[in-house]
Amino acid sequence: MAKNIDWGSLGFGYMETDKSYVSLYTDGKWDSGTLTADHTVTMSECAGVLQYAQTVFEGLKAYTTESGKIVTFRPDLNAERMAQSAERLEMPVFPEERFIEAVKEVVRANVEWVPPYGSGASLYIRPYMFGTNAVIGVKPADDYQFRILVTPVGPYFKGGAKPLTIKIADFDRAAPRGTGHIKAGLNYAMSLHAIVQAHKQGYDENLYPDSATRTKVEETGGANIIFIKGNKFVTVKSSSILPSITRRSLEYVAEHYLGLEVEEREIYLDELPEFEEAGLCGTAAVISPVGKIVNNGKEILIPSGMKEMGPTTKKLYDTLTGIQMGRIEAPEGWIYEIC
Ligand SMILES: *Cc1c(COP(=O)(O)O)cnc(C)c1O
Repeated sequence: MAKNIDWGSLGFGYMETDKSYVSLYTDGKWDSGTLTADHTVTMSECAGVLQYAQTVFEGLKAYTTESGKIVTFRPDLNAERMAQSAERLEMPVFPEERFIEAVKEVVRANVEWVPPYGSGASLYIRPYMFGTNAVIGVKPADDYQFRILVTPVGPYFKGGAKPLTIKIADFDRAAPRGTGHIKAGLNYAMSLHAIVQAHKQGYDENLYPDSATRTKVEETGGANIIFIKGNKFVTVKSSSILPSITRRSLEYVAEHYLGLEVEEREIYLDELPEFEEAGLCGTAAVISPVGKIVNNGKEILIPSGMKEMGPTTKKLYDTLTGIQMGRIEAPEGWIYEIC
């Protein structure tokens, strides 16, 4: 039985559900892991995560398909990426197979919180990991928790995706050999000032240029950027952006479902006026169209405009969401059935 929730009016916020998943790492190994109804965390005031931000996370969704199955999308890539994030912050890896099993287990334990097909809502899954023991001299923690919380969320953009106005950020996001490619809380903490400022100035998002030269496009605070130019689907190649699973999936869809030519390459700010469509992509919204990019007060109007998604962006969006919802046949291994 689904919970008595007005799924259609859900926002993108946190709500406690029945169970979370937790596994503890002590004495150099992970315990067997368990479900818990305790949605709080207790730890040392001097914990590594509190003092030195030793934490990484992931984000994926479970949802109900057209045929009534509860599924999730490519969790193996989240497991792999979380392992890479953990390694970069000197944290133990939660085994990838166990990550996938834990995702399934926690979704099954909260099945009443999975929104129905057609509601536009989904169950957001947030795996995360952090150092828990006291660390005062700077070094990696010895003890960790791996947890997964789930919470039902509405569509990221209520009332459909209105094209966004974004600015080339005044700040830098990631250093060339820094941590831009991992999903770490620290990347978000340092983006907060920039996004609050951008919002005050009337922009929806910051598009960060590369920190070294500030001549190339990287990504926004929490989404990769994609462009359309004729028959080409163009995305950013950079070692300091987060390898978005949505973007990598869209590259496949563009080539194999829509017959587009896919280019993953460096994109210069000077080229921006040449693109016909633009969008931001990530798990939360899949694709949010971009209508305007402002660089130092100079407006670049994307030809697809401020009213709706560009036609090719729309096709990409419809195809990927169709695959996710079971309306279009998925490539092998993309959809994991939970129950
Ligand atoms: C999570 C995230 C994305 C989107 O990745 P998906 O796997 O598509 O959800 C993009 N950029 C940053 C910085 C992120 O943290």
